[in-house]
Amino acid sequence: MPRKPKRPCSWPGCPNLTEGRFCEEHQKEENRRYEKYGRDPAVRRRYGRAWKRIRDKYASEHPLCEQCLKEGRYVRTEEIHHKLPLSQGGTHERGNLIALCRSCHAKIHAENGDRWHNR
Ligand SMILES: [Zn+2]
Ligand SMILES: [Zn+2]
Ligand SMILES: [Zn+2]
Repeated sequence: MPRKPKRPCSWPGCPNLTEGRFCEEHQKEENRRYEKYGRDPAVRRRYGRAWKRIRDKYASEHPLCEQCLKEGRYVRTEEIHHKLPLSQGGTHERGNLIALCRSCHAKIHAENGDRWHNR
C-alpha cells in the first residue's frame, strides 16, 4: 500500500502536515467545536437568541464603556465583549463580559491579533 501523501493542516495558520483534514491537535479542536455548537441551524438560532438577551441585559446595566470609564471618559456602550473568546472556551457568564465602545472593542481585538467578531 502506498502511503497517503501528507498535506498541510486545514486549520488557519497551522504548518503541521497531516493525512487528514487537520493535524492531530486541531482535529481535537475541531471535534470540540463541533460538539459545542453543532451544525444544526436550529441550535445556532437558539444560541443566538440567548446571547442577544444576555447582551442586552448586560448593556442596560453597563450603559458606559467600562474601559473608557477607567480613564475618566463617558462613552456610551456599543458592544459587549467576551474577555475569553467563546472559541477558546469562554462563556456568556457576566464575569467573562465587558461593556465597550466601538473603538475600545476594536483596540482589544487588534491587540489580541484576532479577527473582529460581529456580535
Ligand atoms: Zn493543525
Ligand atoms: Zn471605550
Ligand atoms: Zn470582542
